[in-house]
Amino acid sequence: MKRRFAVLLSVAALLFAGLGMDGRSYCCKYCGWKANSVAALTSMKCRLHPDGPYKGRHAPYEGAESKTYCCRYCGWKATSVAALTSMKCRLHPDGPYKGRHAPYEGAESETYCCKYCGWKANSVAALTSMKCRLHPDGPYKGRHAPVAARP
Ligand SMILES: [Zn+2]
Ligand SMILES: [Zn+2]
Ligand SMILES: [Zn+2]
Repeated sequence: MKRRFAVLLSVAALLFAGLGMDGRSYCCKYCGWKANSVAALTSMKCRLHPDGPYKGRHAPYEGAESKTYCCRYCGWKATSVAALTSMKCRLHPDGPYKGRHAPYEGAESETYCCKYCGWKANSVAALTSMKCRLHPDGPYKGRHAPVAARP
């Protein structure tokens, strides 16, 4: 039974590979630009690259596709990566409104955990609203940051 399922899966994978698509689109985590392969995405320069306009390439958003995307710095929510990254972030690590919201790439969860100290909160917004004792810049020099647990 298991074996048959595996065969079916590989047939499906071959079919999709033959069509040159895998049924999903890849989206840039800086600007929300979409392409049907990572290669197509990263072959182009990004208008909202963190180093400056067109100073680097689009980079794939590695989180799951979702109905809402939330900012890893402040917990702001938007319905697309493009909508999220179109706005400046009040809690950006470079300073208030010095950069854009950046999508949290972990799975949606009931608890979010700080990658520096393990502090837990029930939303990214609640987590990032507080300063972190074990922040890499020094005690309480920055905020808790969510671990991006890959789904
Ligand atoms: Zn981009
Ligand atoms: Zn933000
Ligand atoms: Zn922390």
